[in-house]
Amino acid sequence: MAHTAGTKKLGSWFPTASVAKAAPVEGKCTILLFYHYCRPELEKDAKQRLIAFLQDTTGRLQLGGRLRVANEGINSTMSGTADAVREFADALTNWAAKAGKGPFLNPTPDYKYIDDLPPDRAFKDLKILPVNELVFYGVDEKHAPLVNGGTHLDPKDYHQKMKENDTVIIDVRNHYEAEIGRFDGQEKEGGAKYIDPKMRKSTDFKQWLAKDETKAELKGKQVLMYCTGGVRCERASALLNTEMGKDLGGIFQLQGGIEKYLQEFPEGGHWQGKNYVFDKREAFGVGNLAGVGGVVEGGKKKKEKAGKGLSEGVLGKCCVCACEWDRYIGKKKCYTCGVPVLMCSACCTLKPDKTPGKELTVRCPLCVQQNITVPAADVQLTDNGVGVSISKKTKSDGGRNRTNGKEGEGKSAPSVCKWGGGHAVDKKKTRAVKTFGKKCKLGDECTRSACYFTHPKDAKAKANEHSKRPHDSGSAAEVTKKRNVDTTVEKGSNIDILSKVMLSAKERKSVSQPHGDKEQKISKKTKISKKL
Ligand SMILES: [Zn+2]
Ligand SMILES: [Zn+2]
Ligand SMILES: [Zn+2]
Repeated sequence: MAHTAGTKKLGSWFPTASVAKAAPVEGKCTILLFYHYCRPELEKDAKQRLIAFLQDTTGRLQLGGRLRVANEGINSTMSGTADAVREFADALTNWAAKAGKGPFLNPTPDYKYIDDLPPDRAFKDLKILPVNELVFYGVDEKHAPLVNGGTHLDPKDYHQKMKENDTVIIDVRNHYEAEIGRFDGQEKEGGAKYIDPKMRKSTDFKQWLAKDETKAELKGKQVLMYCTGGVRCERASALLNTEMGKDLGGIFQLQGGIEKYLQEFPEGGHWQGKNYVFDKREAFGVGNLAGVGGVVEGGKKKKEKAGKGLSEGVLGKCCVCACEWDRYIGKKKCYTCGVPVLMCSACCTLKPDKTPGKELTVRCPLCVQQNITVPAADVQLTDNGVGVSISKKTKSDGGRNRTNGKEGEGKSAPSVCKWGGGHAVDKKKTRAVKTFGKKCKLGDECTRSACYFTHPKDAKAKANEHSKRPHDSGSAAEVTKKRNVDTTVEKGSNIDILSKVMLSAKERKSVSQPHGDKEQKISKKTKISKKL
């Protein structure tokens, strides 16, 4: 039974994306990775035919994954059974051959298969995302023609090159990926010098390359480049060659990326730490190619609290307590630039990201080094997502929303990641509208922190608020929060006890972390609780 690939809006970034449910994989799951640049680029109708073919075939084979399709080609991570993903690859190759004239898939893409994974590593849906660039560098074919790209070396040859003198190795991934694993084992043995451009996103590469100190560091050197699967090196090496190829002793890129290298060198070779991946494996290391898959093993919390490392070979650190930690769990993001941050499970339970006054402890190492203090939420993307500016809203209210106070103080990150293209915000709005005025089936027992439904207590709380503070506008969200301080609850009931517990937690917070407006609100609540 084929799933139907309807066209669904996925936020403002992907207005024409299609999303379809994928069938759950039983038994073992296989991940298929491939990318392909079409030269010359596809015409618009050719791209549409390719998308239609992809929708049909992935639907028929019940595959999950992410496919980015542009005029310049296709970049994909897919999941399914071992047979299904291979059937897809064959079908795509055959279809491209039959499509006849034009640049489709010639030569055949380098299909990479990761077999024998647990079934939960499969994607739950399949997204086809029409994009302008396969990797968003903000650099086009005119300024960095792919034909100028670095020489491809297979993992064995690349491994040898890493041992050579006068050689540097550029990590073309983002800093948060490099933090937990990278090629720097060769450096201790006199091999290639590791260079991390410290990017928050790929658009930073162009800026990094334009710096004088970068040019000085690379001059006269043989340059190796690598990334996860190889695709990010294509345009990056073309740009490097175009900008300063004459001053270099050659540019080489790792064919198939870290994925292929670790298949060829199961002992790790020059690789240290874990390979961050953009699928359900999360990150994988030597000896565990299936990855950690979002699972945190129980019973380790005490150990971490004591500041002991989990095991040898952990390269990262928790952003809050600095214990050895290399897991991106809980979808924690840097408060000031939005990149994923490492937070240990013990720190996660304390929710520093949701604690007023503690937000700045949740920053990535780059923001800490660069002393960035303006929240990512107060920064707008400009220049088609490449640049940033501090948002007008923040300026007009004098910057009161900022932790560091007045406008003009503090520095914003040079680039900021915004996630989901506004999809999450849209979803939230839709939910709020759909549920407006409807009763919560949990009634007054509801303890959800941001429940959009109405509760009998909401009305009473609102009435109470109005009688006490006639000028308070009492937004729905505020009223919902104030349910916890309703004075009409029965003494000793669950809600009564719960509200006392919650209030005492808030009182503690207000004592230890005084924080402007919030502190005043909390002290009002405290008075109410004393009346109880
Ligand atoms: Zn921690
Ligand atoms: Zn940051
Ligand atoms: Zn509710």
